[in-house]
Amino acid sequence: MPILETRGLTAHYRDFQALFGIDLRLDEGETLAIIGANGAGKTTLMRALAGILPSTPEMVHLAGRPVGALSADQIMPLGLAMVPEGRKLFPSLSVEENLLIGSYGRKIQGYWSLEAIYDLFPILAERRHSPGTALSGGQQQMVAIGRALMSNPKVLLCDEISLGLAPVVIRDIYAAVPKIQQSGASLIVVEQDIGQAMAAADRVCCMMEGRITLEGKPGDLRREDIHAAYFGAA
Ligand code: ATP
Repeated sequence: MPILETRGLTAHYRDFQALFGIDLRLDEGETLAIIGANGAGKTTLMRALAGILPSTPEMVHLAGRPVGALSADQIMPLGLAMVPEGRKLFPSLSVEENLLIGSYGRKIQGYWSLEAIYDLFPILAERRHSPGTALSGGQQQMVAIGRALMSNPKVLLCDEISLGLAPVVIRDIYAAVPKIQQSGASLIVVEQDIGQAMAAADRVCCMMEGRITLEGKPGDLRREDIHAAYFGAA
């Protein structure tokens, strides 16, 4: 059984339709990358999965349960957490306070604790009392990932976690992905960098204009097919 599945998922912003019948499957323990150009609908898909944009019950299933009509507050305790685009930390709070917010009010037992996050990203332990504003972009991204993990999610959604970061920092952040998988979580990462997506993911989905245009394992996808699915036919 897939841990997360969509069936004909649609999404709208007022009368603008942004997603057109998305059928997506995330298997347990899998890392799925969603690639696509600006405006393809990747962030909209993450928002719909997380309950930020409304859909109908049967359009999204989490661990076999229809959750499409639930709000973000209702879905999160069922085991879904999101690292939003732009990190969205509380700037005046410390690293540790930002991390603790991720577990606030939730008593989901599991692998992740402050100590486990500091083990994953040791620099955060050194900077645990620093305010969010004093961190580099990469460190802020680590806090955003740690905060989402603190709820011990079954599924972690990561929206553009490498955007605007230096290659060496991106490498450090993606080095965490196998460790997160080992903790039992399944991941969806939205990524504009095709090479990065291919390297990190078990499977890749490409989106264009609100539809999935290509899906497969990195080793099975041909460069010209990816190009066509990403940019459209020439
Ligand atoms: P990016 O990489 O730029 O974030 P994306 O693939 O995540 O792109 P979305 O942000 O999901 O794409 O946008 C999909 C479509 O929905 C685009 O045409 C965009 O203009 C539109 N859109 C996104 N957010 C809104 C909004 N709040 N109101 C109206 N239209 C929106």
